[in-house]
Amino acid sequence: MLRRSLTLAAATMVGMTGAAATSQAAGEVNLYSYRQEFLVRPFLEKFEADTGIKVNVVYASDGILERLKAEGANSPADVVLTVDVARLKAIADEGLFQPVSSPILEKNIPEQYVGNDNGWYALTLRSRILYASRERVPEGAVATYEDLADPKWKGRICTRSGKHVYNRSLIASMIAAHGEEKAEEWAKAVVANFARKPQGNDRAQVKAVHEGQCDIAIGNTYYYALMKNNDKQPEQKDWAASVRPVFPNQDGRGAHVNASGAGVLKSAKNKDNAIKLLEFLSSDTAQEMYGELNHEYPVKPGVPQSAEVRSWGDVKFDTVALSEISDNAAAAARLADRAGWQ
Ligand code: FE
Repeated sequence: MLRRSLTLAAATMVGMTGAAATSQAAGEVNLYSYRQEFLVRPFLEKFEADTGIKVNVVYASDGILERLKAEGANSPADVVLTVDVARLKAIADEGLFQPVSSPILEKNIPEQYVGNDNGWYALTLRSRILYASRERVPEGAVATYEDLADPKWKGRICTRSGKHVYNRSLIASMIAAHGEEKAEEWAKAVVANFARKPQGNDRAQVKAVHEGQCDIAIGNTYYYALMKNNDKQPEQKDWAASVRPVFPNQDGRGAHVNASGAGVLKSAKNKDNAIKLLEFLSSDTAQEMYGELNHEYPVKPGVPQSAEVRSWGDVKFDTVALSEISDNAAAAARLADRAGWQ
């Protein structure tokens, strides 16, 4: 089903490509995006307006790597945009990205957020934090990821599958911090504390806390903002109101962060425009738009956060390189399996 919609979207894109090539002197750039359209479109429209470069997009929640492998050198794609660093690494590991050197990217994006050999660049940051029941978890009772392994939380933790990219990345950060053996002990102890079999997305876990099924959930930061301000589905405001966001490990290594990011493909036919697109996405304008739209943390230092994100205060983030997190992702997936986090 997913594969089919990707194929249809790709067919549309190729069609657009022909039209764009004849009508746009500035040319075009072709993007495969794991990021959803409503989050990407506003930037792309701004980029098109600023540069005259036409952006053709294929949106897909899955299957982009397989598609790139199948297309090989004939792939129409120039850039891939993801919402998780492990997916960037998977594409890099297949040798599909090319190193990009750009003084603008170098200036805008700290080294910690750049892939090996400049193969990809993080564009926005999201932390993976704890949501503790305001009613049933006293302030300070859970302060670290390690605390989740404490037997006092037996039957009280809700989370999605450990194989989902967000949790896989969190487990990868535990491997980076403690080594694989300790991380596995931790994961097994956390699984032993689950209130229910992993299911649903991040918001569903906060809903479960609201409904009293569990007392602690794990979720990405921006979902808190999106629930809290959700006028379309106001019940989500109640879910958010029932939890206290807890940024873990503030007295230690800091809260885990993952990133959305992008890389330029080796097969890119529009390499210069692809780099221009990445540079634009790292610019103050795009970084601030990302922050306002999805309440993520700008990757470029000094760019203002959204008012909601600012209200969470100054937060300490884990400084481990994202390339190390992504290097541990495959081991993290196997570890999640062994721990029964699925
Ligand atoms: Fe998400």
